[in-house]
Amino acid sequence: MPYQKILDTISSEASKSKERGEVANYIPELSKISDQKFGIALLDEQGHLFESGDTHEQFSIQSISKVLALSLAFRLLGDEVWKRVDVEPSGDPFNHLSLLEQENGIPRNPLINAGAIVVSDILVSQLQHPKKEFLQYVRKIANDPSIAYDEQVAKSEKRTGFKNYAAAYLIKSYGNLENDVEEVLDFYFYQCALSMSCQQLVKVFYIFANRGKCLQNNPYLSLAQVKRINALMLTCGFYDEAGEFAFEVGLPGKSGVGGGIVALLPEKFCVATWSPGLNTKGNSKLGMEALEKFTTKTGLSIF
Ligand code: GLU
Repeated sequence: MPYQKILDTISSEASKSKERGEVANYIPELSKISDQKFGIALLDEQGHLFESGDTHEQFSIQSISKVLALSLAFRLLGDEVWKRVDVEPSGDPFNHLSLLEQENGIPRNPLINAGAIVVSDILVSQLQHPKKEFLQYVRKIANDPSIAYDEQVAKSEKRTGFKNYAAAYLIKSYGNLENDVEEVLDFYFYQCALSMSCQQLVKVFYIFANRGKCLQNNPYLSLAQVKRINALMLTCGFYDEAGEFAFEVGLPGKSGVGGGIVALLPEKFCVATWSPGLNTKGNSKLGMEALEKFTTKTGLSIF
């Protein structure tokens, strides 16, 4: 497959695009990023890396981190995780609270904020030094000790993440949070503030395309665990646009309000895009368009 040529074509079309969406500004630090950035990187099943555009520049991965936190919680707690969080798409924006009340504090799925806050609570209970150990886990999978949290972004969200405080207190009121709200959200905000480039993201998410094993072939997840996490990415990975992403692109994946998207075809490839302008549903506008072109040009999707 001529991946390099395809990525170059997509990247050059994206760079000419006038309609680029809106950069997120509800986390003040994110609004400082230029909407002119675009990068796309792909790692194939043999570990060959293809890339075009701004693929080495790090950005805030935000909600993409929820998949990584879930994978660590799943490793530590196994199926017990599903007693605390459900596996159904919400059809609601990422920070919606109404379903939490209707469903007694059990979040719809681990990839919306409420669910990710419960996963953070699990990690805070399970790990002695949650922030340090989570970062070590991500660095080990990527085999890249340079991956780090962006303190400015974490602090910026800590000052303004009122809806996440509301969600956490609501969950706590239903008895589904073991630790203090402050402690859980401190971990959650740092987790979301992980900085990575497209080429680092494909290396980390390679485990979900490679039957649970990283590029160095070390196992992190069982096949059954990878199957479940990929299913959640397909059905819940794109806020209330998961149906649209499956329809247009046809791959499991996850987006974040920093403008990143990572998607994969099991046993074939893992691909990441970055363009900070978001569409009205909060997904990267050019990223979604790029991935639609990619699966259409290559004919490679899970369908
Ligand atoms: N840290 C962000 C929040 O909780 C993540 C949002 C996202 O990327 O979907 O609002």
